[in-house]
Amino acid sequence: MKTILVVDDEQNIRFLYKEELEDEGYQVSVAATGEEALKILDTKTPDLIVLDIKMPGMDGIELMRKIKEDKGDIPIVLCSAYGRYKQDFRVWASDAYVVKSADLTELKLTVKEIFNQRQAG
Ligand SMILES: [Mg+2]
Repeated sequence: MKTILVVDDEQNIRFLYKEELEDEGYQVSVAATGEEALKILDTKTPDLIVLDIKMPGMDGIELMRKIKEDKGDIPIVLCSAYGRYKQDFRVWASDAYVVKSADLTELKLTVKEIFNQRQAG
């Protein structure tokens, strides 16, 4: 079973993403802050990380940089409520960028595509 770590400072989003991604057949763990995520990553290596950009303290872009340095090649999906990050070169290091929506269709498709690509490659 593929494992996913969801990092978001909003509790309702953590619940929603966990529930919906578990319905897709993934095993999902959650973290509320970048610091908490790094603690989890000390002991576990998920197959993919879904990362909120806007968080108090360490934001998603800084966390992504740390993860890429320390953990190497874990696919990262950055999420934000703001479409403007699409033009931000700092998000280009991620594997995908998804604008947050109550409808998780795009997120689920993105996750599935990344897993399919990795399997093929
Ligand atoms: Mg946030």
